Amino acid sequence: MLSIKNLSVEVESKKILNNFNIDINDGEIHAIMGPNGTGKSTLSKVIMGSDIYKVVNGSIMFDGKDITNMEVEKRAKLGIFLCMQSPISIEGVTNRELLHTALSEISDEKINLYKFASSVESIAKDLKMDKSVIHEFINKGASGGERKKNEILQMLVLKPKFIILDELDSGLDVDSLKIVCKNINKYLSENKDVSVLIITHYSRILNYIKPDYVHVLNDGKIIKTGDYNLSLEIEKTGYTGLNNISETDLDE
Ligand code: ADP
Ligand code: MG
Repeated sequence: MLSIKNLSVEVESKKILNNFNIDINDGEIHAIMGPNGTGKSTLSKVIMGSDIYKVVNGSIMFDGKDITNMEVEKRAKLGIFLCMQSPISIEGVTNRELLHTALSEISDEKINLYKFASSVESIAKDLKMDKSVIHEFINKGASGGERKKNEILQMLVLKPKFIILDELDSGLDVDSLKIVCKNINKYLSENKDVSVLIITHYSRILNYIKPDYVHVLNDGKIIKTGDYNLSLEIEKTGYTGLNNISETDLDE
């Protein structure tokens, strides 16, 4: 589904990703772990198509198409969804308007308004969100956790093929994290081809959404790959416990 080859990315002339490679097949769940500031969020935004980041080398292929220079909207239409680390609030646009516009953009069929409203309400209910949120401005006055739930609401309405979860657990309390992950797992069990990239610096979320592969990102590239047990190892020894990362790497 997603194949990234020799990707190097700069922001403000600073190299963040450096010869980064990854292949994610249909239905696989990959986790990328790494210390703060190693480029995890940069990677997520580059896959989604943010133009703040400059791709200086390499390619991103999605379902056999080269999307390296494709606009965000087209990537969304192909089924890529990013649940952002820090979702912003947008005054003047309601969640309902956003969801309706986004869904109209990505689906070619005309939306049945009655079905749309009842589906959004039922997803909000499953996520234990107050259904009045649907008619409020996007994330207005919302806490970190409420914003994350709103991202997952969008995700479940838009039904993407490829999901990037950037620090999903940040802002969510334990109970909310469980509810959110339960709903994501339900979506994945009903859509077996959907792939997920979980970006996290803590292993906690991987207890709820079990990855097939765990990669460690440092210095702009993957330096180690393993299974779920690698995340447990990191939890125990920290990133400095991995033999390829030295203390000085983390100080830089
Ligand atoms: P992570 O998500 O792994 O904590 P980020 O991808 O957010 O790391 O950031 C990696 C590095 O890139 C950091 O040093 C950060 O300061 C820098 N960076 C990221 N985005 C920007 C930006 N828009 N402008 C300037 N520097 C940025
Ligand atoms: Mg980040």
